[in-house]
Amino acid sequence: MRRLPFGGRTAEWSGRRTVEANARTGTVPRNGQAGGSGDSVNESSIQAIHRELGVPEDYGRRTGLPLQAIPDELVSIGDDVSGRERFLTPDAASALAEMIANAAVDGVVLQVVSAFRSVEYQVRLIKRKLAEGQTIDEITRVLAAPGFSEHHSGCAVDLTTPGAQPVEQEFEGTDAFAWLRAHAGRFGFVLSYPRDNPYGVIYEPWHWRYRGG
Ligand SMILES: [Zn+2]
Repeated sequence: MRRLPFGGRTAEWSGRRTVEANARTGTVPRNGQAGGSGDSVNESSIQAIHRELGVPEDYGRRTGLPLQAIPDELVSIGDDVSGRERFLTPDAASALAEMIANAAVDGVVLQVVSAFRSVEYQVRLIKRKLAEGQTIDEITRVLAAPGFSEHHSGCAVDLTTPGAQPVEQEFEGTDAFAWLRAHAGRFGFVLSYPRDNPYGVIYEPWHWRYRGG
C-alpha cells in the first residue's frame, strides 16, 4: 500500500476513484457541454463562458496559453491545507506523493493549496473577483480564463509550506521553493510561470505542473 504524505483524512492510497465518483464532491469536471474524456474543453462553450465574463475574444491568441485537456481519470490526493479534498491524474498524483516524501526526507514540508480545478470552479473563482470589483484584465493576470487554466489538466498543483502565505510570491524565499528548484524536475514537475513569462501571467513560484518523469 502506498502512503500519500498529504496529511488530512486520506492518508492512505486506497485505489483510484473515477471522475464520476468524484462528482459527488463537487470538485469535478465537466458540465454537460465540456468535451469528452481526454479532449480539450469544448471550444464553443468556452467562448460562451468568456463572453459572459467579458474575457477578450483574442485571449488565447494574445496570451499564447493553450486550451487544456480534461483528464480521463482523477484520483484523490487527500486534503489540501484548508481541508478540502483535492484530485490529480493518477500519474501526477504518484509523482507528487514521491516528491513530497523525498522533500520530507530533506526536512522540507510541501503542502498542497490547489490541484485539479474544473472549468465551473474557475468560473466561480473569477465571478467572485468580479463581484469584488476587479476588472477581468486584472483577474486574468492572476487566474487563467476558464478553459486555459493548467489546473483543468489535473497535472498542476499550487504548493506551500508551513510559515508561508499560500499563493504569495514570498514563497520564493522559502526552503521549500529552493528545494523545488533543485529537485522538482527529477519528479517531472516544472515551474510553469517564471518571472517575465511570455503569457503575461504573474510570477507564480508556487505553481508546478507535472510533465512526465
Ligand atoms: Zn496554480
